[in-house]
Amino acid sequence: MKFPAVVNYAREKGSVEIREIEKPSIGEEDVLLEVANVGVCGSDLHQWMADHSWTVNYPVVLGHEFGGQITEIGKRVSGWKEGDRVVSETAAVIDMNSPLSRRGLYNLDPTRKGFGYGVNGAMTRFVKVPSRCLHRIPSHLSFESACLTEPCCVAYNAVVENAHIKPGDRVIILGPGTIGMLCAAIAKLCGGDVCVVGLPADKSRLSIAAKYGCEIITGDASAWAMEGDGLGADCIIDAAGTSATLRIALELVRPNGQISKVGWGPQPLNFSLDALVQKNIRLQGSFSHNWPIWERVISLIAGEQLNVQHIVGGIWPITEWQEAFEKMHRGEIVKSVLKPI
Ligand SMILES: [Zn+2]
Repeated sequence: MKFPAVVNYAREKGSVEIREIEKPSIGEEDVLLEVANVGVCGSDLHQWMADHSWTVNYPVVLGHEFGGQITEIGKRVSGWKEGDRVVSETAAVIDMNSPLSRRGLYNLDPTRKGFGYGVNGAMTRFVKVPSRCLHRIPSHLSFESACLTEPCCVAYNAVVENAHIKPGDRVIILGPGTIGMLCAAIAKLCGGDVCVVGLPADKSRLSIAAKYGCEIITGDASAWAMEGDGLGADCIIDAAGTSATLRIALELVRPNGQISKVGWGPQPLNFSLDALVQKNIRLQGSFSHNWPIWERVISLIAGEQLNVQHIVGGIWPITEWQEAFEKMHRGEIVKSVLKPI
């Protein structure tokens, strides 16, 4: 029996289509997961538009934000059983012996391959997952919410691990996409006074920031940044998909403040970094996530401190992937979720 899958089959723009694929066979340390829901990520859109900067193992099933139920267990897997409700981390292939993996920083292992570009992802009925990637979710937590654990972990890493926000800090989030919104929500949980900045075209997406109790600014945020003592915001989380926003971040941040950069784009910079030095700024990159972040984020979602449903713009069967991708790509909604058939 074959199952429909959203497959990215070539490097050319638009090379995504539904293909019928076999149920994967699992290895001794894997489980087979029946996917309940899978989120569409900006990186899925980038691969569809062929404007991504990473190596893709074509053809590949897209999708790395997913949860589901275990339906098969590999011979050497312990601690899991059929029927367990789980979400999966994204680092499908890692070198367990790399010095980074041994420190628990397998997300930074250079040989890491993720679902949806390195190995087949979850935009289909069944996906093969190494058991070390799994996290249990409580029975009351819906898969519609749980499948968004991954982008929440990206945001948690950018805001909590790679920035240090104190209650009352003024925090500016650049970019109204999924990661920007979730960074805003988490910065609020840290006690920050938070504003989300976007362009006029981002209006409908920006309005969601109000649901997380954040201010919304279209265009120039310097007035908000300078409120108070006039020196700038304590922390900038740059979640825009470009390098150039670093310039805005350096303008808005106060002396001795911090910038956490989680949004990226391949374009080169073309300005001086003197402000970084002169203002004594701590600039920190933030990439991916690891096991303790996943456990913490699951408890935040399950405990309803973090409501991911605010960002979900709709749920489509995977066969209608194109509409789900297009709505997100046009910026009409923040996040599309798919359901395998
Ligand atoms: Zn993602």
